[in-house]
Amino acid sequence: MTNVNKSVELNRDNINKCLCAECPVQIDSECSKDKLDIINEKLKEKGDINDLIKPEELVLVYCSFGKATCTDLASRELCKCTQCPVWLENNLANNDPIEYFCIEGLPK
Ligand code: SF4
Ligand code: SF4
Repeated sequence: MTNVNKSVELNRDNINKCLCAECPVQIDSECSKDKLDIINEKLKEKGDINDLIKPEELVLVYCSFGKATCTDLASRELCKCTQCPVWLENNLANNDPIEYFCIEGLPK
């Protein structure tokens, strides 16, 4: 994973806190729904999440790895990142972009 943002870790805690799964930007995405089913299965396994899930399979914690691979996202809907605990804990208000990481890419 060469494009990982060092400031936001991809771990189970952040996955649990992330609001992307309920975000209107991707809630109607068939591509994201399919990937979420796979992720939820993999999360039942023990071990480091980075070993279990490849970045291109993720539809959560976009602030840790950048743009979504799904192309059917509703980019005109409202991003939920600014309401997310991960966003607050990592001071993402001071980055660019400050939200819509699934569309705009990694916060820098
Ligand atoms: S990064 Fe923002 S816009 Fe994208 S799915 Fe997550 S909450 Fe929604
Ligand atoms: S800041 Fe956005 S992308 Fe990052 S964990 Fe929270 S909702 Fe998900």
